[in-house]
Amino acid sequence: MQVRECRSCGDLTPEDAFRKGRADCVWCQYEDMEKRAKARFADKQKGAKQRLHIGKNEFVSWYTDQSDECAYCGLTYSELKELKLKKGKGYFVSWDIDCVEPKKGYALGNLALSCFVCNMAKGNALTVQEMRIIGPAILEVWHTRLDATN
Ligand SMILES: [Zn+2]
Ligand SMILES: [Zn+2]
Repeated sequence: MQVRECRSCGDLTPEDAFRKGRADCVWCQYEDMEKRAKARFADKQKGAKQRLHIGKNEFVSWYTDQSDECAYCGLTYSELKELKLKKGKGYFVSWDIDCVEPKKGYALGNLALSCFVCNMAKGNALTVQEMRIIGPAILEVWHTRLDATN
């Protein structure tokens, strides 16, 4: 994999982590929480309109009030950037929005920022209490990977 220096963070970053015509990597491009919040809201408006019970401004203000980490494992945004996790064709650059109780959909009081691994593990099957058992184990995996690369 070719690497290129990101104009913003200065990291040597895989070539495929730059969008066309961008000099900054995808993580720098989405470092701003408000920008991520707006992009996520647009996703949900497209893909989950029937389950969306919150307005854009309310959603953005909820999102930007959160600690910038996975609510279940505690992975931080800077760790997420360092891990360069692949998701589908691209990289995982922006938290998933977990519906704490899936039935209630995207509503204030029922939302959590989540990494995609915790979100997949939880799905419709596990409760927040059960995620407290799994979250620390997932974080241990992330930290083991980070230690291996440093
Ligand atoms: Zn960068
Ligand atoms: Zn997580």
